[in-house]
Amino acid sequence: MHEFFLARNAEVKRELAAREPFRERFFAKDCLWDSRRGVLERSEGEIIEAVLSFDGGAEVVTKELRPFHRLRYHLCAVADTWQIKWVEFECLRCLGTAGNRDCFVGKGRGWCGQPPQDGNSDDGTPPPGDYWRR
Ligand SMILES: [Zn+2]
Repeated sequence: MHEFFLARNAEVKRELAAREPFRERFFAKDCLWDSRRGVLERSEGEIIEAVLSFDGGAEVVTKELRPFHRLRYHLCAVADTWQIKWVEFECLRCLGTAGNRDCFVGKGRGWCGQPPQDGNSDDGTPPPGDYWRR
């Protein structure tokens, strides 16, 4: 994940630099609209809180990527590395705790997000994680 964080930070810098001519042409220097102000600082601020590894993948919970309180990345093993399969964000009402059936946001899971409909999880073997324990 640290490699991912570093690569994302570099990508954000590249995107911001590529937008500079566009910004200079159409926006006054003090106009913040669509400026993406703080995006690099937010990207650089994300830290890993917990890792759950299992055969074929892992779940990584991170925090401090504003505006999200926490994110849960679902990783799948690909050859000798991994890829992000999907990402959930923590329900702001339930704060990652499952069981609140009254919550319309996370539907009692504590996290919000949907796994992809196709891919590795369609072999009938549910991966670990709160989403699958509902
Ligand atoms: Zn909730």
